[in-house]
Amino acid sequence: MVGKRRSPQQRSVALGTTGHGLDRRGRLRPVTIDLNELRPQLAALKLPPLPQALPSPVTDAHTHLDMVTERSGLTVEQVVAAAAAVGVTRLVQVGCDEASSIWAEQFAAAQPSVVANVALHPNEVGRYPERVEQGLATIERLAQAGDHVRGIGETGLDYYRTTDPADQARQKDAFAAHIELAAAHDLTLVIHDRDAHDDVLDVLSGSATPARVVMHCFSGDADFARRCLERGYWLSFPGTVTFKNNESLRQALAVTPAERMLVETDAPFLTPAPERGKTNASYLIPHTVRFMAEQLGWELDRTCRQLQANAEAAFGGPWGDDVLVPAGSRASQA
Ligand SMILES: [Zn+2]
Repeated sequence: MVGKRRSPQQRSVALGTTGHGLDRRGRLRPVTIDLNELRPQLAALKLPPLPQALPSPVTDAHTHLDMVTERSGLTVEQVVAAAAAVGVTRLVQVGCDEASSIWAEQFAAAQPSVVANVALHPNEVGRYPERVEQGLATIERLAQAGDHVRGIGETGLDYYRTTDPADQARQKDAFAAHIELAAAHDLTLVIHDRDAHDDVLDVLSGSATPARVVMHCFSGDADFARRCLERGYWLSFPGTVTFKNNESLRQALAVTPAERMLVETDAPFLTPAPERGKTNASYLIPHTVRFMAEQLGWELDRTCRQLQANAEAAFGGPWGDDVLVPAGSRASQA
């Protein structure tokens, strides 16, 4: 999805889960969030309540914190802290255009629990073809910013929003350029594929081979899942896996080996049941994780550990230093 850049807001509250934010000049600024204040604030903003915390930490493999902040009325620090409070201790922040990729890199540089993915979204490429050349130059610069930038994405093809062959050709060219960047800089390639399964695999076959490839917001059936898995890709499952009418996605989950599945929000979009239709944020991923555990017939704790190990493997190793304190720990009892 494509959104506008937004700077983190300045408000913060006392006590509780601790995180780090950026001030207006991009400097690291310690903040504290009081969960006892956050809970009524979620209600006041008509946002879903905090679900029960997960027994073991997981990573939200794909989120747009800037857009969540814009839609929810929460500060970016509150969004990160709310996630940590329910066991979502690591986030992958994804840029969609030049400005949001710059923001993702800066925020990840300051926030140890967050890593950045940077790219020009295929819809962005279609909408602003004149910006692609400069945008790609920026993405290449950001790709080399340091260990906090772990992926090139989201890139790929989106035929849902355009059927124009010239538009689709431009998307393919930009996608190929992103693949080259991921391979050249040993970053994870994070793919957006909407109604373009065959062409996505075609472009991938004709390009360099990145070491790690994630199918973000996987939307195929079991057959397409197998084709991606044969190539060694990770499949990242969003909240749509919980939707009643999405049996084909559950069949895709069923054929995915344990070590190849990821979980993501794509927040602020695709909110899982039972909060479907409301604004999504990383703190709601426990609903999806619990649903996946049930589907798979796994213990919840095992599911969390597997998903966490997979996120580390898919994004080039662990990150963060447990700055953020999960719920039930000393800080939230203060
Ligand atoms: Zn996204």
